[in-house]
Parts: sequence; structure tokens; C-alpha cells
Amino acid sequence: MPKIIMNHGAGGEIMQEFLAKHIISHFPKAGADVPLEAMDDSAVVEDIVLTIDGHTVSPLIFPGGDIGKISVAGCVNDISVMGATPIAIACSVILEEGLDIEIVDKIMESIGRTSKECGVPVVTGDTKVMESGALDKMVITTAAIGKRSKLLDDNMIIASKYRKVKDRWCTDSNLAPGDVIIASGTLGDHGVALLSFREGYGFESVIQSDVAPLNKMIAEGLKVGGIVTMKDPTRGGLANTLNEWCSKSKVEIEITQSSIPLREGVINACDLLGIDPLSIGNEGKVIIGCVPETAEAILKAIKRTPEGKDAAIIGSVKEGRPRVIMRTEVGGKRILEPPSGDPVPRIC
Ligand code: MG
Repeated sequence: MPKIIMNHGAGGEIMQEFLAKHIISHFPKAGADVPLEAMDDSAVVEDIVLTIDGHTVSPLIFPGGDIGKISVAGCVNDISVMGATPIAIACSVILEEGLDIEIVDKIMESIGRTSKECGVPVVTGDTKVMESGALDKMVITTAAIGKRSKLLDDNMIIASKYRKVKDRWCTDSNLAPGDVIIASGTLGDHGVALLSFREGYGFESVIQSDVAPLNKMIAEGLKVGGIVTMKDPTRGGLANTLNEWCSKSKVEIEITQSSIPLREGVINACDLLGIDPLSIGNEGKVIIGCVPETAEAILKAIKRTPEGKDAAIIGSVKEGRPRVIMRTEVGGKRILEPPSGDPVPRIC
């Protein structure tokens, strides 16, 4: 009898197939504006944006962050990348019997601090305890709601000045040939910091998790206008994000390897460990697709924010087969395949 494996939750092609076949297929279709089967960052029902995320990161506290900060940032970012304004969070905490209460306080304090920082309050929650050994210390599930704003409306009006825009939200299927792709900063930091800290490789002294709520940075981009899609490249990293966009928008994306922001420490760690920095999860980055006419202005606006200071234009959208082509540093071209799953387990 087939059993659950770690890759069923690792954010790549294996997980997507599993979700479609064994989870989503059992639920009746809801007719939402952005429905479950779109497998986007959030759903949209009657203009209410809704998302939920379970957090199983190990260890609970790591260089640059902790499970509490991820829990808030994760759901705030999933609402924000739809172009929506996050307004409230629900938080469920499941604790293992025997866990030090001091750790619970630390994590909850972090949730409070992050929530204050991004201006999105926790307004409801639930707490349960399981027997010692039935759970690994702590699992946090956060849901968030968001709403449409004038900022998003104006952003879409500007995009529509240059070409026809299919969706009124920043969905995965909204790209068209000619669009420009922006990465908001260095990629792979979170996955490398976590893996290195957990396994004792020592790279975490130079690489910290990037975990951060991005609603304020994203608002600066929307103020410029012309953004048609956004995604936080979490599990499966940039490779997964771009491949999802290609298949849902039915376009080809071409990126230039030398333009992708990567820290030297991440490149060195990935070389040594034999993993691809473009397939590792990030928790404080967003990939943006926008019309070419406003791309430079959006880049400039994002670069002015602390979270977006390393942002760069990394590629563009072409007509063609749904695939991601990467122009390599030596001048060749290769296909950036969708990862089967994130190479680092339990990073969020
Ligand atoms: Mg997401």
C-alpha cells in the first residue's frame, strides 16, 4: 500500500501531483474567483482573499528567525502576492507534552513582534496539546484574510494601459509575452541557513534566513503600477515558481543566470552540498512579473525598501512552450527543470 513520503510535502512536482490526485480531487468545486484548483498562493471568494499555512520547521529557532516569525510572514506574504492587503491572522498552536513553557513564550513573543512589524494582528486562535512523542515539539498553523485595495485597482489599470490583463488579482496565470521578471533579493538564503545550522556545516555564520513579512515592500511596487503576478518562492525556490507560472500562463520564461542575486556563501554551500540554489526555499523574497513599461520604476521602488535592496531584473516572458530557459554564465542555454521537491526538508 502506498505511504506518505517526505516529498509529498516538499513543494515540487511530486507534491503538486499528490495534491491534485489525493486532496483537491475529493473537494466539491466552489466556484471561487481564484479557486482551490488554481493552486495559487491564496484563494479569492467574493473579493475576500484567504490563505492557510501549516508550519513544521525544524529546529524551532534558527539563524535569522524562528517558527513564530515564519508563521506570520508566510501567511502575510501569501495574501500580499495576490496584490491584496492582509488584514488579520488566525493562529493554531499544537504543542507536545513536556515542551518547556519558556520556548512557547519565546515563539509567541516572536509572533507578536512580527505581527506588530507588518501591521497585521492575530485576531483568533486555538491551542491543543498532544502526548509526548506524538508530535515534534510544536506545529503552528496560520490563516490570514486580505482585501482588495485601491492600490491594486490602480496597479491593474496601469498594467491594462499597455496590454490586456486576464485576471484582476496577481495570479499565476496572468503573465503574457513581453512581461519582465524581477527577483526582490538574494535567493536560497533561508534553505541554506537552516540546513547548515541543522546539520552543523557552519555556513550559517555567513548566511541567515531571510524570513520577513513583505507586505510593505510589495505595496511600494503596487504604487508604481503594472504588476500582473507575484509569488513568494518558498519550497522549490525560483525554479518551482517560474515553472508554475509557465504552465499556468502558457508562456516561456527566459532568465539570465548572471543577473540572479545570489550570496557568495549560498553559492559555496550549494556547490559543496551538491544542491541547486534556485530550487531551495526562501521566506523573505518575492518574484514579480510586470509589464515592461513600468519594470524599471518598480525595481527602483522595491530597491528603496530594506527587504528589496538587492532586487534585480532576472528575465522576461516569451511566446513559446511552457518551460524556463536559463542563459548560463558561459553563454549557453539550458532548461531550468521544475524540482521534484525542495532538497531541504522541513524548512517552513
Ligand atoms: Mg506562496
